[in-house]
Amino acid sequence: MDATVFAAYAAAQLADIAAILTQHGPAGGACCACGRPHPCPHVETLLRYRTHYQRCLTQTRQPQPRVD
Ligand SMILES: [Zn+2]
Repeated sequence: MDATVFAAYAAAQLADIAAILTQHGPAGGACCACGRPHPCPHVETLLRYRTHYQRCLTQTRQPQPRVD
């Protein structure tokens, strides 16, 4: 997978994560919107993946050192 393909993959993953995160969040009391106890373990996992893909995208966008 080259950098361009990976960047597109990571961006798609981030969009999916953002969409899924809209289904979670504090829903009053001690519950997440998904019905699990808050903080929801799914949110923690999604946020970890989001950080991972954001970091990968940042590194992918770094200009590559020239080798002349
Ligand atoms: Zn949840």
